[in-house]
Amino acid sequence: MSQTKETSPPSTTREPRQIDALIVGAGFGGMFMLHRLRGLGLTCQVVEAGTGVGGTWYWNRYPGARCDTESMQYSYSFSPELQQEWSWTERYAPQPEILRYANHVADRFDLRRDIRFETRVVSAHFDANANRWTVTTDKGDRISARYCVMATGCLSNARLPDIKGRDSFQGATYHTGHWPHEGVDLSGKRVGVIGTGSSAIQAIPVIAEAAAHLFVFQRTPNYSIPARNGPMTREYEHTWKADYEQRRAQARMTRNGILANFNDQSALEVPETTRRRNYESRWVTGGTTFMASYNDLITSKAANDTAAEFVREQIRALVKDAKVAELLAPKDYPIGTKRICADTLYFETYNRDNVTLVDLRSSPIEEITATGIRTADHSTDLDAIVFATGFDAMTGTLLKIDIRGRDGAKLSDKWEAGPRTYLGLMCAEFPNMFMITGPGSPSVLSNMMVSIEQHVDWITDCLAHMGSRQMSVIEPTQKAEDDWVAHVNEVASKTLYPSAASWYMGANIPGKPRVFMPYIGGVGRYRKHCEEVAAKGYEGFMMAGGRSVAA
Ligand code: NAP
Repeated sequence: MSQTKETSPPSTTREPRQIDALIVGAGFGGMFMLHRLRGLGLTCQVVEAGTGVGGTWYWNRYPGARCDTESMQYSYSFSPELQQEWSWTERYAPQPEILRYANHVADRFDLRRDIRFETRVVSAHFDANANRWTVTTDKGDRISARYCVMATGCLSNARLPDIKGRDSFQGATYHTGHWPHEGVDLSGKRVGVIGTGSSAIQAIPVIAEAAAHLFVFQRTPNYSIPARNGPMTREYEHTWKADYEQRRAQARMTRNGILANFNDQSALEVPETTRRRNYESRWVTGGTTFMASYNDLITSKAANDTAAEFVREQIRALVKDAKVAELLAPKDYPIGTKRICADTLYFETYNRDNVTLVDLRSSPIEEITATGIRTADHSTDLDAIVFATGFDAMTGTLLKIDIRGRDGAKLSDKWEAGPRTYLGLMCAEFPNMFMITGPGSPSVLSNMMVSIEQHVDWITDCLAHMGSRQMSVIEPTQKAEDDWVAHVNEVASKTLYPSAASWYMGANIPGKPRVFMPYIGGVGRYRKHCEEVAAKGYEGFMMAGGRSVAA
């Protein structure tokens, strides 16, 4: 189905290199997209900023980094051979193992020959006369592609907070999302960690083992469930592999793409003793699927309170110093409305003599100085500062690229008041530009592997459909986009999510619009909807075969 005869790849010539599909990013989304589009016979180029594949697992190498979705579920399902042959060593795979897996996939499917590493896309402009995207990179490449697929990841734009004096610190500084590849030796050092989100909660117990003293600068405490990680048993692996196809199929139709023993009962319809037994049993089993204990934990405050209070009780039991325990127990937002965490000995770490919790609520950071961090009532001397301060999530990486659609429309203008998409897959005015796990799709609320595969397969089917009908341009209608945005907002408004100042809401970035960005309607429901859209001839999309798209 190749529509473009590929030209050789000179990097700085005037004539752009002509290909069918340009894919931005070589994480799990970009790699699979490349594999699928090659299967359609398209000429493809992936552009990747890192020196290797793996996306988020390439960049996030901080101590303790691991996935908190179980290994047997956090992997590709598209190749029965791959999923049967690959063996995970732990219940939750550590980052180096996931990166090995990504590299294995790249080798096995011979992906590297179409990936240009150490190169960043800086602009993507749509030419409505040619119906092609012209993409430029920081290496001077100009590439002309019929389709542009943004596989840029949801959490790929690491964010350093604007704290006064941030760059004056004379010691070492690190961001968890940009951890040095050669590793960092923190042994014997006085280390400050700013932040207590998922990354910090994984890193803190490991850093505490090495550091002379660890100071944790906490603004908002987080709910965390013990991961109960451990070695993968051959029996457990076997039960999955013996039934993989069916389990994968079931997972695709769940609420968040994870088989999680979801209890479809209200927390309020069972007696307190039953509820407690359920929470206790899930606490012992461990993992973020604690939120699957009842069906109304994210819709009913009263139901949510029962789970939140249970977790607070566990924190109080784990942390010996009652004052510290109280500071670590979240109270001002419902459990699950900021991303719930899974940990290994996180709360217990605060019982160590070499760990101090610094409460920024009572004494905010005023300044980073040459020697450490000064809060309103204390100065702490440090050798190293670890920023575990998160990401400009979901939109940040896309908006760093100068993306212009029809008539020069800028994506940054279109999304000024928050992201607007149809199905999280495409935007009106931006023909032939697809997003993998874009805002408006379940994305970060789901098992990313499941959502990535669903998007990649949908895009592939869509391009095959277009190819078979001599169509070469696709764009959502404005109405379809408006209706979808309204639906995404409506569904979110029926949950407790908007009540928390989370990165889902853009609340971690000063000035970012407060809009709930992912789609909370559920992975299974969303998949069905996308399938129906396709079955109805790509309802809500305009397709054209010529050189222009009808508005
Ligand atoms: P995050 O959840 O956004 O946490 C950032 C932390 O930094 C928060 O505690 C935040 O406090 C704090 N912070 C930010 N600016 C600050 C400032 N100026 N002063 C003091 N504190 C500040 O980021 P993350 O931990 O990197 O996690 C991001 C997401 O990545 C997760 O939610 C998850 O989706 C994903 N992730 C997944 C895994 C996994 O699968 N295991 C692991 C790590 C990350 P406030 O809350 O007060 O803003």
